[in-house]
Amino acid sequence: MAKILEGKEFATAIKENVRKKVEEIKEKYKISPALAVIIVGNNPASEVYVRNKHKACEDLGIVSKVIELSESVSKDELLAKIDELNGDKNIHGILVQLPLPEGIVKSESEILNRIDPKKDVDGFHPVNVGKMVTGENALLPCTPAGCIRMMELAGIEIEGKNAVVIGRSNIVGKPMLHLLLQKNATVTLCHSKTKNLKEMTKQADILVAAVGKPKFVTADMVKEGAVVIDVGINRIAPKKLVGDVDFDAVKEVAGFITPVPGGVGLLTVAMLMENVVRAFELQGV
Ligand code: NAD
Repeated sequence: MAKILEGKEFATAIKENVRKKVEEIKEKYKISPALAVIIVGNNPASEVYVRNKHKACEDLGIVSKVIELSESVSKDELLAKIDELNGDKNIHGILVQLPLPEGIVKSESEILNRIDPKKDVDGFHPVNVGKMVTGENALLPCTPAGCIRMMELAGIEIEGKNAVVIGRSNIVGKPMLHLLLQKNATVTLCHSKTKNLKEMTKQADILVAAVGKPKFVTADMVKEGAVVIDVGINRIAPKKLVGDVDFDAVKEVAGFITPVPGGVGLLTVAMLMENVVRAFELQGV
């Protein structure tokens, strides 16, 4: 029976550390780190995410500014808002909540690439992606960085392990590959075109699922004693979320497993808070 990695325990540890750093910054510089979140339109899921980020900021003494723009905002207006925040000395982190409503831009990267890399607390700007790949000091994407931090805090060794990531998105799968590689794992990235997926996942000492399909990873795909990190968030009923892993069956085989809800998701917000402080430090005062 697997040990359950409760996100709350790790997220609290990370946030307490952020709280201390924020206090030190306030004491030393008489200013609070500040995050600006831009939300466009009224996607209910995005509104919940933005509210959670706002609450986390308030709790830790980080200034939070939520900028709500109408669904009819033009690309140029949105870019002008980003430029304004880039130039605002009192804003240290900028985040554009995704997904953007259809029609504003052909590709979200048109918007994300406008954010000053030093304020890019989501870690999606090509400058930060490049630095992550080469192992330089970068603002790292929150969800994959949270998965790594959780394993480290839980005392799980990554070096020398076979790690298999399912999913190749720019937000989770690809950065996960690079962060595991930096920790000296041997990494395999699987995706929708991978043949014999089960043969691959069965080799995994560390298995990360970022697919977006409910209960996609079944017990027969998992090696005995493996660390199973479930990034998926799938709503299967109005009030029921499940991950990409068939939790009840897989926990009988795995050594460690993250639950959904209550797992990786909580780490994502905690790492965002840490990134706001890191962004503040990168910018200097
Ligand atoms: P995505 O849709 O961009 O990517 C999904 C990936 O899964 C693709 O790369 C695809 O190749 C792969 N895939 C699809 N079908 C497959 C199959 N049959 N076999 C193997 N691979 C397959 O999704 P994403 O943005 O990476 O998100 C993945 C999941 O993680 C979603 O459920 C999302 O809600 C969740 N998520 C959670 C957090 C968090 O904070 N916990 C953050 C981001 C995303």
